Amino acid sequence: MIGNVEKPIDFSKTCKNGCSLYPLLMLGSGIVKGLVETAKNFAGSYASEERMVTVQYPEEREPAKEAARQFPFLVFDGDSAQMGLRCVACQICEKECPPQCIYIEKSKDKKPDYVGKPQFYPATFDIDISVCMSCQICVEVCPFEAIKMDQEYELSNNDRFEALLIRKDRLAKPNSYYHKIHSTEATEVDERLAAEKAKAEAKAKADAEAKAKAAAEAKAKAAMGVIDAAPAPSTGQPAPKPAASAKPVATPPSTAS
Ligand code: SF4
Ligand code: SF4
Repeated sequence: MIGNVEKPIDFSKTCKNGCSLYPLLMLGSGIVKGLVETAKNFAGSYASEERMVTVQYPEEREPAKEAARQFPFLVFDGDSAQMGLRCVACQICEKECPPQCIYIEKSKDKKPDYVGKPQFYPATFDIDISVCMSCQICVEVCPFEAIKMDQEYELSNNDRFEALLIRKDRLAKPNSYYHKIHSTEATEVDERLAAEKAKAEAKAKADAEAKAKAAAEAKAKAAMGVIDAAPAPSTGQPAPKPAASAKPVATPPSTAS
């Protein structure tokens, strides 16, 4: 389309004098307007930094926008990438990744997760970033807030294979790094995880209290049973014998007719 969506140029139009060059003049005026805007920015960039739209890369770098995303990384809590890794190797992201560039091997043993529940962890977690298309689907499907999008983009390398296969050690980055690059999102995630942790702790406490109460009740019942079944204390006298002439009490005849 020539012109803009609201006001496309009508090539059948002519000017008042019948000149058929009218549409071309309209086109020319658009080009002139664009050139004027460029010239204003060019001249203005010497006076105002806001008009500078380029930087002298790689000497200068623009800070990445908070929502910028490149390739995924794995988040870990605390100081240990091994112990604090949030990933539980559920492999959902591996199954959902459209180009199938995630490879996970589940551990044989378990380690506690952020609420203290024993979970598997990835013995192997690789992402082939030469295939990854930065779609973020792995992030969307992860139920454990374990995988997020990084903003690192200077990853070009001469080695097509090994250097672009990012392994678990390189993928694992601390939660503080997640806060640094996506602070709003990371704060929300922290709040959600803290609420979940508090809920799990409250439930564990209630369960422990109920268990302790049930155990105390069972112990009390057992003690009562022992008292009921215990023999009467001995007086040193022989127990009285039942009378030999005792007759059973006769049932009176029924008066009903
Ligand atoms: S960003 Fe997309 S392509 Fe890349 S690993 Fe995640 S799901 Fe796969
Ligand atoms: S990153 Fe998330 S979805 Fe992928 S395996 Fe780990 S816990 Fe599961």
